[in-house]
Amino acid sequence: MKKNAQAIAATQSQTQAKAAANADLMGIAGAVLLGLTLLFAAGFAQAGILHDTAHDMRHAMSFPCH
Ligand SMILES: [Zn+2]
Repeated sequence: MKKNAQAIAATQSQTQAKAAANADLMGIAGAVLLGLTLLFAAGFAQAGILHDTAHDMRHAMSFPCH
């Protein structure tokens, strides 16, 4: 009976470890996806579009501009 409880506890511990590893993996995958998206969006966008976007963001944050 005690062995059975230990086995259940070990299984729960492994399940929690797997869930934590999956959460880490999702975070890493999300960061990689976001990074690649930013990299390719900035790499292939035209300079004027990037400038206008940065300019609009500056206004959106109420940063003094012109
Ligand atoms: Zn402006």
